[in-house]
Amino acid sequence: MTHISKRAVLSVGSLGGTVSMQAAAPGQGVTPTLDCLGLLAVVPQLAELAELRTATLCLLPSASLGFAQLFEVLAWAQAEVEQGAQAVVITQGTDTLEETAYFLHLLWSSPTPLVLTGAMRSASQPGADGPANLLAAAQVGLAASSRGRGVLVVINDEIHSAAKVRKVASLAMAAFASPGDGCDGYLLEGKPVYRQPGAACSVLPLPTNRGHTVALLEASLDADTGLLEALPRLGYAGLVVAGFGAGHVSASWAEALQRIAEQIPVVIATRTGSGPTATATYGFVGGEIDLRSKGMLMAGRLCPRKCRILLWLLLGCGLEQALEEHLGQY
Ligand code: ASP
Repeated sequence: MTHISKRAVLSVGSLGGTVSMQAAAPGQGVTPTLDCLGLLAVVPQLAELAELRTATLCLLPSASLGFAQLFEVLAWAQAEVEQGAQAVVITQGTDTLEETAYFLHLLWSSPTPLVLTGAMRSASQPGADGPANLLAAAQVGLAASSRGRGVLVVINDEIHSAAKVRKVASLAMAAFASPGDGCDGYLLEGKPVYRQPGAACSVLPLPTNRGHTVALLEASLDADTGLLEALPRLGYAGLVVAGFGAGHVSASWAEALQRIAEQIPVVIATRTGSGPTATATYGFVGGEIDLRSKGMLMAGRLCPRKCRILLWLLLGCGLEQALEEHLGQY
């Protein structure tokens, strides 16, 4: 009797991005053209790892992705898992990868790995990194040690938690980092090696309200308060400020923000790119003690962009009162 072993199933969905970009003619700029089958065609090793299922979910530069598309990606990935996928890999542009990964992470309740990847070199460049990143994402996703870690970003042979990863360089090959703790793991001879446990994160319910908006503004030297004065009339449901240093703004911003915080949640993050906001160190007007006393929350280690996503999702499911508790997880 022949023994037929059941092969693992890997689902790959593509959204566009540099990994899928090519130039129509020499000297022209690259645009997203390769569909999912086109991406897989140059990585024959994938078919040795698993039975493949593919879907071209859209073909966009990642700057033009939106929350609505991410809900579709989530539903597609969940359906793939229900239909037996042992891992799901999404390819997309790297420009917004840190935000899409965190958005999906907050809603991904399955222990099945959902792995996001992309590329810094287009498909038409010599030494394109897309095929290697795609293979690495599949290897990580299919490994038993990746289960229960939520959404992962695999790029440049590193494995990052969706909650911590940031794009830290515009064009370099080593464009991603997890400032502070470093990456969660790396690939060694095609296998993931984890150096720390997965980031704890409570999964949120699907938001029922999706029509609201959350603004993100950055503090800068001698900035006027014009935008802050206008903000209450624009209908935003929340505001995140990328503040100076440990979560600070100017005295004039502190006053304007106080008026906004009387109406909607206002969160102060750090614009530095690394490290937490303070809670009880600085006593000047616009420092964290003052801002907290004026009704604002401090973002802790969560970067401004991820903070906006968290606040948007919490507002969408009526859980904004839990914002401080969620921020405390990072
Ligand atoms: N430069 C970007 C990328 O790495 C373009 C995008 O995000 O779509 O894919």
